[in-house]
This record gives sequence, structure tokens and C-alpha cells, in this order.
Amino acid sequence: MADDQPFVPEMDTETTGFSRALARHGLKLTRGHTQILQVNVGLLCNQTCGHCHLNAGPGKTEVMTRQTAGQVAAWAGRVSFEAIDITGGAPEMNPDIITIVETFATLSPKLIFRSNLSALNSGGREHLMDLLKRLKVTIVASLASINASQADAQRGDGVFRASIAALQKLNALGYGQPETGLELNLVSNPTGAFMAADQAQTEKRFRQMLERQWGITFNHLFSFSNAPLGRFRRWLERSGNLSTYLKKLADGFNPCAVDGVMCRTLVSVSWDGYLYDCDFNLARGLPMGRNRVHVTDMIGRPEPGSPIATADHCYTCTVGAGFT
Ligand code: SF4
Repeated sequence: MADDQPFVPEMDTETTGFSRALARHGLKLTRGHTQILQVNVGLLCNQTCGHCHLNAGPGKTEVMTRQTAGQVAAWAGRVSFEAIDITGGAPEMNPDIITIVETFATLSPKLIFRSNLSALNSGGREHLMDLLKRLKVTIVASLASINASQADAQRGDGVFRASIAALQKLNALGYGQPETGLELNLVSNPTGAFMAADQAQTEKRFRQMLERQWGITFNHLFSFSNAPLGRFRRWLERSGNLSTYLKKLADGFNPCAVDGVMCRTLVSVSWDGYLYDCDFNLARGLPMGRNRVHVTDMIGRPEPGSPIATADHCYTCTVGAGFT
């Protein structure tokens, strides 16, 4: 199957191994108080990362329009979410990103902006960096590895160098520096069919190396395993690693991680305004609670206790310390 073809979801989620794992431990996955609205502003990206669960990349036409962004903003205004998290693709590449950031910053006490760094540092986007700083937006930036050739192998030639330059610019603006209130967090993920490394150790290693080699500082680092979806799933299939990888995820099931999985407190809205329990379910085409609901049909928050659509990729969130 070609990389850009949609993944056909397993709709019979009651029979997946993940549901059975929950049942074996007497657990049920339902929504708690939904605090975070994640807004996926489109699949357009300047990179074609090997691990991308959304198949994002250049040439993608699935981009949130100004009208849909307005509909999402209207819902966010009715609800007052504790945080709004703008993601993509590369959100920088949405043509209305300036308006989107300005609008959503007025609708929640905390705005988060996900960046692959290279998109933030190209195409004359200094004004976007300045805007993020002025509005004290938290930046969550992908930095797969501190090894240049590993990072470029996963994300594309020259991406590591562009990412380092972007981090240096963000530091110069005050991001990741003490007492500025400008939070800069990093996300690292493994290259290949491996589980994420220990988060505390990875954070220590990145902190030491980035500071020593490039004078870069940051607030926190999150280390996550890759979800077996999208382009990464295709790679697992092609390389003959899919069943081993799925088994590793399932074998690492940690029942204590279930309570903290992000779908309990987050709702994700896609570029065309439909709701999902999380970004992974969006990638897989599993709508929120298995009902296709558009943002214009929502009045308040999703109800606490409402069901969450699950499938085998959910093991990504419960392996080891979990994915929150
Ligand atoms: S993949 Fe989504 S729905 Fe499944 S456990 Fe993780 S956050 Fe929840």
C-alpha cells in the first residue's frame, strides 16, 4: 500500500487485544474531565518523517480553513478549555497560522504550539516566533535524536542542523531560559522498531549534550515510543517488523498507565472539524467514542464517563511509563 493511502481502521474495537488487556485487569477506559483541546490544523509539512503516524508531508491538501478554525474557536469559546494545543503536520505551514494563534491565545489560559523546528526556522517565519513569544505560547518541539545522522535519517537531510539553529533562536528569544516564563519542551522518539528510552536518562543526556555542544537549554523532555500507524506502520510492514513491534508494545502493557492516558482529558479536532479521542485515533480514522461528530454539533465539553474508541495502537500509550 502506498504511504499516502489512508489506514483502514478496525471498527470492531471491542474485540481488539487492547480491550481484552483492559478487561483482564478489570479496567475500563472512559473520559474524565476534558481539559485540553488539541487542534490539528492540517497534514501539510515540510518534512516526510519515517515515524509520522499521520502521513503528513509536502503536497498534502488537508489543511484547516479559516472557516473551520472559526468553528473550532467558537466551540473553544463556549467551553473554556484549560489548554489548547495546536498541532499538524507542521502547523507553521497553515496559511492562516498567525490568525489561528492569535485567536486561540484569547480562548484559554495556556496555548501550546507543536513544532518540528525546521518549519519554524524557514520560510521567513521570524514573525511567528516573535508572536509565540509575545503571547507566551508554550513550544513543544520534536528533536528525535542528538545524533545528526540518526535525526536526518528519520526526518530528512539537513533537518538536524535546521533544528539546532531554531533552538538557538528560541533560546535567544528567552525560550527555555530561567524566569522568562517561556516554556520550551522537547520530544524525542526512537529511530527504528524500538521502544522509547527511559525519559529521565534521555532528558539528562540531551540536556548535557545540547548545552555542551551548542549552548542550548530547554525545560523538559518527553520520550515516547512511535505509534504503529501511518508512515511508520508502512515501514514496519515493509521491513518485516510489524508483528514483533506490536508484541513488544503489548508485552510492555502497564495497567498503572491507563489512568493517565491523554484521551481521558483531551479531545482532538481534525483539519476538517471532526472530533477524535486523540491524535492517534485521528490518524486511524476512529472518531470520538466511535461516533462521527462535527465541532459545530458540540455545545459543551465531551461528557465525563463517555466511551473512548480504542484499537491495538493504544498499547503505545500504556507501554512502560505511558504516553501522556
Ligand atoms: S491511542 Fe488514543 S485512545 Fe488509545 S489509549 Fe492512547 S490516547 Fe487513548
